[in-house]
Amino acid sequence: MDAFRDSMLQLITQTSTNLPPDVRRAMAGALEAEQGARSAQALNVIATNIDMAGDHEGPICQDTGWPTFEVRTPVGANQLVMKRHIQAAIAEATGRGKLRPNSVDSLTGSNSGDNLGPGTPTIHFEQWENDAEVEVKLLLKGGGCENKNIQYSLPAELPHLGRAGRDLDGVRKCLLHAIWQAQGQGCSAGALGVCIGGDRASGYLHAKEQLFRTLDDVNPNPELQKLEDYILQTANTLGIGTMGFGGGVTLIGCKVGVLNRLPASFFVSVAYDCWAFRRLGVVLDAKTGEIKRWLYRDERQPTPKMSRQDGFVRTGREKVLRAPLAEEQVRELQVGDVVLVSGEMYTGRDAVHHYLMKHEPPVSLQGSVLYHCGPVVLKNGHYRIMAAGPTTSIREEPYQGEIIKRYGVRAVVGKGGMGAKTLAAMKDFGAVYLNAIGGAAQYYAKCIDEVLDVKLLEFGIPEAMWHLRVTDFPAIVTMDAHGNSLHADVEKTSALLLAKLAEPVF
Ligand code: SF4
Repeated sequence: MDAFRDSMLQLITQTSTNLPPDVRRAMAGALEAEQGARSAQALNVIATNIDMAGDHEGPICQDTGWPTFEVRTPVGANQLVMKRHIQAAIAEATGRGKLRPNSVDSLTGSNSGDNLGPGTPTIHFEQWENDAEVEVKLLLKGGGCENKNIQYSLPAELPHLGRAGRDLDGVRKCLLHAIWQAQGQGCSAGALGVCIGGDRASGYLHAKEQLFRTLDDVNPNPELQKLEDYILQTANTLGIGTMGFGGGVTLIGCKVGVLNRLPASFFVSVAYDCWAFRRLGVVLDAKTGEIKRWLYRDERQPTPKMSRQDGFVRTGREKVLRAPLAEEQVRELQVGDVVLVSGEMYTGRDAVHHYLMKHEPPVSLQGSVLYHCGPVVLKNGHYRIMAAGPTTSIREEPYQGEIIKRYGVRAVVGKGGMGAKTLAAMKDFGAVYLNAIGGAAQYYAKCIDEVLDVKLLEFGIPEAMWHLRVTDFPAIVTMDAHGNSLHADVEKTSALLLAKLAEPVF
């Protein structure tokens, strides 16, 4: 098993950087379907980002996610040794910038720096009747989509859909609600892994396991197949679309499994995954640990290119913003404007926002662009940004309005939009929300010319305040200083469409 560790390093690296063919096909279908629509620009950037990540072995998204390994071994194989090799490979992949340090002590907030710690990574072992081979599958699932997971206990009253009973139609309502509540915040177009039944813990686990199925497989249970097809088609009529910009592709897959349940319980557990659906597998020689073949890939087929054109396609109508920004300039912007930001930008996410509520900022934020981003950064003499897409902004809703008011932030860049408190502060104090394309970490890293400085590094690399110089960083104004929010509009119109689906179907 000498080669086992190296095989795990290859698996982790490929999973983080090279999207599997079934997901590529689904996203190519989305790109085709949305040409000419508002989300076409976002899909163009996503397609280019997927190509860039594969070409340069860079993380597809800066949130390289929570690693879940599913390992099948011959009877009697030493699982303790395999576990140690997997952990060593995880630490090495982190050191090489293929994974972001993502393992945080829940009590102290300190980052272990190598993706190891209590609970991370998750490794599930199972034995199989095959003495010659070991199978290892890996799913990397990011926080933005993980936060949109949801569990229902039936019967339940669901917003806009009414009563969901303990039957397949009740499950149908739960799944439609799950997609609606996620809006674009889990980086739609997304996919659902679903478990009907189980207890609370086994339900979530089984839902996540459904994400190891390919997007184009067919459920052997005809009833579940019918439900999967219905959800996939119907979700795409809700008008949520890519990144919640509106449009006809909200979901790229729905995979439903079922477990027995207690008579008193009826759980429906939903694992929401984003378009950056990173899942691969390998079959190893059980003696040497060398890779015999890859799963989810046909190695006789070359990996098809995703992009038809180069990322962001300029129309000539883009508004050029040079940071720091003046209030008058920001107040001229309207929802729907496409902007290209150049100049200086500061990153700040959960720890920075929390800090700024109690302390003065370490730099002046007057006129600043604040980027909700936790980048992947390597230090080799100087800092190099390896991946730098936006993180989910709504987590900063309790703080953002106050920070805009106190420190004069003029633009917040993130994904998924923010709520009413932030919108009101933007109107009162003159600021806008710029929606960048979630997961497009390679694409945005290329817009960063240099790291000028870093503050609050004690929070760990993803949570530090990085001072960056950027050129032509594209984003869309989705909340303006006039009280308009595309996110609020899409949520409202999709709720009206959801309400039309309240009548029983199954
Ligand atoms: S694509 Fe979006 S939801 Fe997925 S891991 Fe990246 S930031 Fe998170």
